Amino acid sequence: MARNIGIVGAGIAGLHLALYLQKHGVDATIITDRPPDEYRNIRLLNTVAHHHVTIAREDYLGVNHWTDPKDHYYYHDHVFNFPQPLSFRGDFSKASRAVDYRLYLPALMQDFLKRGGKIEYRRIEERDVRPLVARFDLLVVSTGKGPLGQLFTYRPEHSPYQQPQRRLCVGLYTGVRQPDPMNVTLSVSPGHGEMIVIPTITFGGIANALLMENVPGGDMEELATLSYDDNPKHFLGCCSASWRSITRRHMTASTLRVSIWRSRRISCKAAWSRPCATRWSSSTTANARSHSATSMPSSIP
Ligand SMILES: Cc1cc2nc3c(=O)[nH]c(=O)nc-3n(C[C@H](O)[C@H](O)[C@H](O)COP(=O)(O)OP(=O)(O)OC[C@H]3O[C@@H](n4cnc5c(N)ncnc54)[C@H](O)[C@@H]3O)c2cc1C
Repeated sequence: MARNIGIVGAGIAGLHLALYLQKHGVDATIITDRPPDEYRNIRLLNTVAHHHVTIAREDYLGVNHWTDPKDHYYYHDHVFNFPQPLSFRGDFSKASRAVDYRLYLPALMQDFLKRGGKIEYRRIEERDVRPLVARFDLLVVSTGKGPLGQLFTYRPEHSPYQQPQRRLCVGLYTGVRQPDPMNVTLSVSPGHGEMIVIPTITFGGIANALLMENVPGGDMEELATLSYDDNPKHFLGCCSASWRSITRRHMTASTLRVSIWRSRRISCKAAWSRPCATRWSSSTTANARSHSATSMPSSIP
């Protein structure tokens, strides 16, 4: 018997499900609030890295459009500012890569549409859910952590946390040096947070996401309270100054040396010693809008 599945939301969850159902001949309709052509001008959504299991799924779904090995990264460097600082490298068995979701999500929406999929563009409120349940054989709500997701109650058996464990501040930066082949660097300041440098495929080629995961109440939390839109110059100046003083206070000199100079990953000038405004690429104005201060329920895999 033919099935008709409704999917609310066109994030990675909704899109991968819709494409999977489509591939298996199941009729799926996506209902989402943002059409593909609106993604280019919005703020950075996240800085998600896809590891090889996800890339394998993209191959299976026929939506892997980012196959150049030069755009992939191949290992993590980990740097921990414990009393006895620790650093180590972890090589992946297969490459990983990160794509700006303002490119990724519309590309997959277009794939779904080209193959005959249906997408309806409108915002779904709680009152709309019952009619949608009646319309489809199954309704899947994959709207992320927005208000509609509050339909589903918190289930403590799945998480020990009731509050976000990190407050994030992230942007895409040019002028940050990457080794060849590229990598991700994870620097940990226990009690205060982590900084993750992720080479990311953006509208203007590779840029680096500098993701500050700030522990609520820790010294780095101030970074998540700044708004780029309110005052871009102030934002960039504060980020630069905070990173400098925070890393000096919480990531020891040897940690810094490991994370910055020995691995030759982050150009000291670009990321630490000067306001990053001087390093913004004029060709990637989208990046200048891309700062995002947001919170996450727990640390990110
Ligand atoms: C800075 C940052 C870094 C991250 N890094 C990683 C990482 O490295 N690895 C990882 O696994 N995860 C990472 N995450 C988490 C990851 O981004 C999310 O878990 C994931 O994108 C959620 O996908 P989703 O499809 O569930 O929801 P979303 O991506 O939030 O998609 C929701 C969709 O629903 C639509 N929508 C919302 N409300 C409505 C409504 N009422 N009506 C209609 N449509 C609606 C939205 O427009 C969107 O299309 C990161 C997150 C952030 C913020």
